Amino acid sequence: MTENSLFTRIINRELAADIIYEDEQCIVINDIAPQAPVHMLVIPRLPIAKLADANQDDRSLLGHLMWVAGEVARMAGVSDAFRVVVNNGKAAGQTVFHLHLHVLANKGSAEIFSEGNL
Ligand code: AMP
Repeated sequence: MTENSLFTRIINRELAADIIYEDEQCIVINDIAPQAPVHMLVIPRLPIAKLADANQDDRSLLGHLMWVAGEVARMAGVSDAFRVVVNNGKAAGQTVFHLHLHVLANKGSAEIFSEGNL
């Protein structure tokens, strides 16, 4: 049996993470090694290894992830200026092979989130 990905273990609460949003399709956590003042990861519950592995059935999920990226940016107060990045493949810098969107902003802080905001 293939071992669950790091992010699946976070989704299953087997590993601790700073969870700032979740719904039936995805979870959002703060990146453990932030590259910007706001650095969140939007992660589908479905463990698609990388973007290029998504199939036609995943199109609405991919759209949902983009919508959530905008939602959490708005919640973090950075909806005027943020970036969404997906690294696809090792040569492109992907290190965790469970699809995720990086949401990055140079101002603001994800610390406004608390469990009460979920
Ligand atoms: P990528 O390089 O695009 O695959 O992004 C993986 C991201 O996951 C990196 O930015 C890491 O800092 C982040 N990361 C790795 N482990 C954890 C963790 N336990 N909790 C939160 N973020 C993590």
